Amino acid sequence: MSAPLDLIPTTLERIRQDLVGLKMPRALEALDAIVRRLEQGEIGALEAIDTLLSEELSLRENSRIKTGLRMARLSTIKTLSGFDFTFQPSLDRDRILTLAQLGFVARCEVVHFLGPPGTGKSHLATALGVEAVKAGKSVYFCTLADLIVDEIGYLPVVSGGGNLIFQLVNARYEKGAMILTSNRGFAEWGEVFGDAVVATALLDRLLHHAVVVQIEGSSYRLRQHAELMPEHVRSKALITPPNPAHVSRPRGRPPKNGPEPLRT
Ligand code: ADP
Ligand code: MG
Repeated sequence: MSAPLDLIPTTLERIRQDLVGLKMPRALEALDAIVRRLEQGEIGALEAIDTLLSEELSLRENSRIKTGLRMARLSTIKTLSGFDFTFQPSLDRDRILTLAQLGFVARCEVVHFLGPPGTGKSHLATALGVEAVKAGKSVYFCTLADLIVDEIGYLPVVSGGGNLIFQLVNARYEKGAMILTSNRGFAEWGEVFGDAVVATALLDRLLHHAVVVQIEGSSYRLRQHAELMPEHVRSKALITPPNPAHVSRPRGRPPKNGPEPLRT
C-alpha cells in the first residue's frame, strides 16, 4: 500500500522531522538558510552538513556550560583573562596558567591560595572553577561558613564544625580535587578550627598532594585608596608561613619572589 503522493514528505520535510525527533532545535532553525546557501552554490554539501552539525553542537556546548556554571554556584563569574597579573607581581602567571590546564583535577590534588584580603584568591579559584566547568567537570563552590573552604579564617568555625569539615576532606582525599582559599597561614588553623588535633589531621590530608600558591601583594579592592590605608594593611606579609614538617613537597614551582612556605 502506498501513500497518496501529496502525503509523501519531501526530503527537506523529512530532514525537519528527523531534526525534531533527534532534538536538534538549533540545526532545525538553521536548516532553511543552509539549504538556501547550498542551492545558490555558496557552499558545498559537506560544508552544509558541517555547518548544520556545528550550529547544534555550539548550542549544546553553551547550554552545558551554562548549566554547569549554575550548578557550581560560583558567587560571581571570574575569568583568568580578567585577572591583571601585573598587579600581583609575586604571582607566577605560568604557574596559574598551568593550573588552568586542570592536571590537578585529574590528579585529585588540593590547590591552596593563600594571601591577604583582596589579593585575588577567590578570583583565581573561581576562574579555575570556570575552566573546569568548560572542560566538563562538575564544580561546586561555597564558603567555609556555608560549609567548606573559601575564605578560611574570616569566621570562627562552630564547635564541632572542624570534625564535619574533616569528614568532607577525608571523603574527597585522593578521590577529587579541591581548591581552598585562606587569609590565614596553616600554622593558624588550630585557632581557626578551635581544635589543634582536627586542624593537624585536616592539614595532613590537605597538604599531602598539594599545590600552594602564596600571594604576597596588596589588595586589588583598595588599589585606588592605597594612600588612605595604614601601612600594615597596605603591605603584604599578613600570613605567617606554615611549618608543616610532616608535609610532602607540593608539586609545581614555588612563587618566584615569595617565600617557599612548604619547603621548610
Ligand atoms: P580575595 O579572595 O583574595 O580576598 P578576591 O579574589 O575576592 O580577593 O578579589 C577582590 C576583587 O578584586 C574581586 O572583584 C576580584 O575580581 C578583583 N581582583 C583581585 N585581584 C585582581 C587582579 N589581579 N586583577 C583583576 N581583578 C582583581
Ligand atoms: Mg576571597
